[in-house]
Amino acid sequence: MYWAQLSERMIKDKVFKALNSNFNYSTDLILGIPGSYLNQKQFYSTSFIKESPFLSVLMHNPNHIGCHTYNKGEKYFLGTQQLEIELLQICAEEILEAKKGEYDGYVATGGTEANIQAQWIYRNYFMKEKGALISEIGIVFTEDAHYSVYKGANLLGISPICVKVDADNRRVIQDDLKNQLKKSSAQGIKYIIVHLSMGTTMFGSIDDADLFLDIVRKDFCNYFVHVDAAFGGFIYPFSSSKKDLYFQNPEISSITIDAHKMLQSPYGTGIFLCRKGLIDQSQTSEAAYVYGSDFTLCGSRSGANAVAIWMILKSYGSTGWTDAIAQVISRTDFICHKLVKMKVKFYRNPHMNIVSIKAPFIPKELAEKYNLVADNYHSPKWWKIVVMPHVTTALLSEFINDLDKFNKCECN
Ligand SMILES: *Cc1c(COP(=O)(O)O)cnc(C)c1O
Repeated sequence: MYWAQLSERMIKDKVFKALNSNFNYSTDLILGIPGSYLNQKQFYSTSFIKESPFLSVLMHNPNHIGCHTYNKGEKYFLGTQQLEIELLQICAEEILEAKKGEYDGYVATGGTEANIQAQWIYRNYFMKEKGALISEIGIVFTEDAHYSVYKGANLLGISPICVKVDADNRRVIQDDLKNQLKKSSAQGIKYIIVHLSMGTTMFGSIDDADLFLDIVRKDFCNYFVHVDAAFGGFIYPFSSSKKDLYFQNPEISSITIDAHKMLQSPYGTGIFLCRKGLIDQSQTSEAAYVYGSDFTLCGSRSGANAVAIWMILKSYGSTGWTDAIAQVISRTDFICHKLVKMKVKFYRNPHMNIVSIKAPFIPKELAEKYNLVADNYHSPKWWKIVVMPHVTTALLSEFINDLDKFNKCECN
């Protein structure tokens, strides 16, 4: 994995160059587009904004509608679209080991949209290419998968198949997977979308592709595998050498990564990636007024979002980001060591920055004071800590001290 780090100066130059090769609503002759720069009653330029590459792009308001790895798309914003193509290339080729140019993708509104985009493509494939009925298509995932999987299944009319995990190690229970698939098959499901997670939201647990697919293959020959790396995509590839959820595994057809979580880019920066050839399935051929057609769920989308991701990735480079993740992992190690010493029971994947603590060890006041998040607010079984960039060792120590006091009182 390698991408170069760029200096502040170079990042600024490149973004302004990209912006200057876009059409400009103020200076070009643009009569036909239902878009413009941001409303000047609120968004007037100042010298500060003119110096800031991101804010300048935001003010110029380029629309990145369409899918620019597929074709050129709208000709008006080619400059900033090129930065989107570059960031997708870093994610697909460098982080997730796709072959050069063998993928399509776009910056979506978030992980939810990217996950639904994947389901939409596979549902259409099964229906158009295999003659499937909608009632014959199912999507299988574990109970730790993000709820967007249900949202998509509901919108698209496909059947959700939820499989239990082991309460302690959060791995899929193979017997339950077998049973659920047999049951679905008996109910007429013939086509399966497999939704695997690279970092579940509550536990940071990582699905094992072989464990899952060895069982799926026994009952189904028509399946696609989507990897939800919305949370883990900018963490796990930098902390672990296991690669079964990357594009280099021929079983994996699409991946979601959110830049607005670990990478701290503004909201609206989910990333959808899929193997070349698949995105045709979500083409809306009626989108005749969009030059280059449309393949995405969202339609119009801000070019500034793509530029934000590009800028963050370039300001670290692969080495810088690997170091940043190593720091986050070591802060997570720190709190886990303390918890082990205190005999507090928790789950953690060693390559991730989420620590889920069993609820009986956490007094309610502490969960409230530190804003821990529960798996289920009605009857919490787990409270989680996510070691994000603002979660310092000092803050973690403060929490550990409070927890220690509580546990000592309990014993007395
Ligand atoms: C956050 C998250 C999502 C949803 O992402 P949004 O960007 O909030 O739409 C999906 N999957 C996982 C694993 C997540 O952590």
